[in-house]
Amino acid sequence: MDWRAWRRQWLTEPLYRKAGAAMPRLSATEQEAIDAGDVWWDAQLFSGQPDWQAFFATPPAALTAQEQAFLDGPVAQLCAMLDDWDISWNRYDLPPQVWSFLKDNGFFGMIIPRQYSGLGFSAYAHSEVVSRISVRSVTCAVTVMVPNSLGPGELLLQFGTQEQRDYWLPRLAQGQEIPSFGLTSPEAGSDAAAMTDTGVVCKQMVDGVEELGIRLNWGKRYITLSPVATVLGLAFKLLDPDHLIGSDTEVGISVALVPTNLPGITIGRRHLPSMQAFQNGPNQGKDVFVPINALIGGVEKAGQGWAMLMSALAAGRGISLPSLSSAACMFAAHTAGAYARVRTQFGIPIGKFEGIQEKLGRMAANAYLVEAARRFTCAGLDQGYKPSVVSAIMKLHATERMRQSINDAMDVHAGKAVIDGPSNYLGGLYRALPVGITVEGANILTRNLIVFGQGAIRAHPYLMQEVTALGNSDQEAGEAAFDAVIWKHLGHSTKNALRAIGHAWTKAVFAKSPVQAGLAGVYYRRLGRYAAAFSLVSELTLLTLGGSLKRREMLSARLGDVLAELFLLSAVLKRWHDEGQHESDLPLVRWCAEQSFFTIERRLNDVLFNFPARGLAIVLRFLLQPPAMKAKPPSDQLTAMCADILLEPSESRDRLVGAVWTTCNSASVEQLEYAFEQVAQAQPILDRLKHGGLKDWRVAHAKGALTDAQAQLLERMQAAVAAVVNVDDFAPDAFARKPA
Ligand SMILES: Cc1cc2nc3c(=O)[nH]c(=O)nc-3n(C[C@H](O)[C@H](O)[C@H](O)COP(=O)(O)OP(=O)(O)OC[C@H]3O[C@@H](n4cnc5c(N)ncnc54)[C@H](O)[C@@H]3O)c2cc1C
Repeated sequence: MDWRAWRRQWLTEPLYRKAGAAMPRLSATEQEAIDAGDVWWDAQLFSGQPDWQAFFATPPAALTAQEQAFLDGPVAQLCAMLDDWDISWNRYDLPPQVWSFLKDNGFFGMIIPRQYSGLGFSAYAHSEVVSRISVRSVTCAVTVMVPNSLGPGELLLQFGTQEQRDYWLPRLAQGQEIPSFGLTSPEAGSDAAAMTDTGVVCKQMVDGVEELGIRLNWGKRYITLSPVATVLGLAFKLLDPDHLIGSDTEVGISVALVPTNLPGITIGRRHLPSMQAFQNGPNQGKDVFVPINALIGGVEKAGQGWAMLMSALAAGRGISLPSLSSAACMFAAHTAGAYARVRTQFGIPIGKFEGIQEKLGRMAANAYLVEAARRFTCAGLDQGYKPSVVSAIMKLHATERMRQSINDAMDVHAGKAVIDGPSNYLGGLYRALPVGITVEGANILTRNLIVFGQGAIRAHPYLMQEVTALGNSDQEAGEAAFDAVIWKHLGHSTKNALRAIGHAWTKAVFAKSPVQAGLAGVYYRRLGRYAAAFSLVSELTLLTLGGSLKRREMLSARLGDVLAELFLLSAVLKRWHDEGQHESDLPLVRWCAEQSFFTIERRLNDVLFNFPARGLAIVLRFLLQPPAMKAKPPSDQLTAMCADILLEPSESRDRLVGAVWTTCNSASVEQLEYAFEQVAQAQPILDRLKHGGLKDWRVAHAKGALTDAQAQLLERMQAAVAAVVNVDDFAPDAFARKPA
């Protein structure tokens, strides 16, 4: 017997049986979610030894001349038309001229190729458009996001028949049709596959001719654009009791395009989501008949709806909400920094207080990180990847950091941001936060179940092949496939374990890095060290818990956080490299890296603290986190350096937040930026007066200590600051109910 046959009989076979018994049983929908999309940089991180050459092979995201012209033209024009106060509190809708402008200029067809009259934009251009509109009006941003995200357009592009594409795509691109996507129903939210909405394959007489079709009954809620939609991308469970399209009675979740003017449809009522005025509401259908070719992809795709949705989500989730979140983080950092510079209390700008600096420093770093991750993800998407784990990480972490940054900005502004009115530039974003947290996979579910739960199987170099082999109904073939992969896996794991422990005890000085010198080199090496540690701890967790990891959501969430930190920090290093390694941006890179390493150690520590195999956990903790080499959080001094970037005009500040204040600003943000510039210009004069003991500049001017030009500058500054500090008030009867 050769040694391979011996190995198979005596080692692989028992292992195959044992692993088969321990393997988590995946439902069909879970399997389809795992199969959706593909892997990218997440797989490199999971391997424990990221390939930095592959990392730099991804070119930075860039715009074509046509895309840039669209941003400078229609997007800027659109922003100038948006008055969010009027939209949110007076109209509860976009004005008619904005709806027309969006349709006429192709905003609803950014992802639709030009051959179908769409704009055919890259993921990056699409993302830039959403970012810019977001800071002006969340209502308008969501209105633009939805047709370009998961919905009829994306589903038709990926799965539609040629006939369906030829008919629907030009109509969607030109705004002749307003789409919405109906998945969620009262009984089925996060567990969308539990929907009770049905479609029964049947024959019905239409205009005297018998037609094969589907009789639909549904009740959906929370559906964005539903009140104004002309076509609904409807998800339902397809049944074929008379076997008219095949042998299965329960065909499975399917998606059809349903014109909303058909008899039996009730549509038009509205929800009011967090006081945002975008169109959102329920809709119902009672015995609605559609022809069988309304199924997206035709009969061939009947029953494949869940896989189709997951695949569409794999790309879309990486663009819309991360773009909005990045813009919101920049906006929070920009406005809070400028406000902290112009607002004085106790005789000094509040930005000089350490308590405020702590918030500003974190906001500056968040803005740098989320924007870096947005650009890196778009670059990957534009290379053709549909990375489902990365897009889940982005959805979750971009929206969570947006929540943190907007909350921080609210605290820094205090009463100024609490009092609502046309000049409050933060209130709308603050109220919109829960929407981003909830939609496209609510964050608790995404963190606890999806990022690691699916990521572990999807992005691991061997696990997916092993799970497939274990699930093979042909035991002989399954065992052979398992034998071909399990020994490679064990070899890989052994090397990873040695690497993780070796790097931990040598401060990662021997880890691979694409650059040798400087701080970035240190960070690349440490990133490699933690990738190896993550890989080792993940493997041992999976080995120890097997299928029960599905229920240990807190462990899964922490491991997901580590993978996310590794991804986000990679993006930060890529941004630093792609932007030309500006020394003045280094505090931001340092803050992100130090916070990230600290978080990774804490999460790994928490996993090991709660690890069921206690002995193994203690040994691992000692081996992976040597007592004298623990990561430390960013120092107060470093946090203050990051805060300072927001408090002074500089190129670094422009790179960090300029994208939101140089384009698409509302009048109140323009006013804030103007006051900031005046204060920065006046500062040397104010300092001189202070040193001379002259508190009142008018007195100083009268005494001849200031020139006329200097006095005018101080007067302008004072007026500009007063305008910013001012808040809205209303006439006593302003809140009286208007007649309907
Ligand atoms: C403004 C808005 C717009 C929307 N637009 C659309 C749309 O256009 N089309 C559409 O089809 N849907 C849409 N939705 C629906 C949205 O996708 C759902 O709200 C979301 O899936 C969550 O469902 P739910 O609100 O019923 O929460 P539930 O499913 O009831 O969840 C409640 C909480 O439990 C958590 N949870 C659930 N399961 C688990 C688990 N296994 N582990 C850990 N935590 C768990 C969730 O994370 C959440 O925090 C929209 C929702 C809103 C609010």
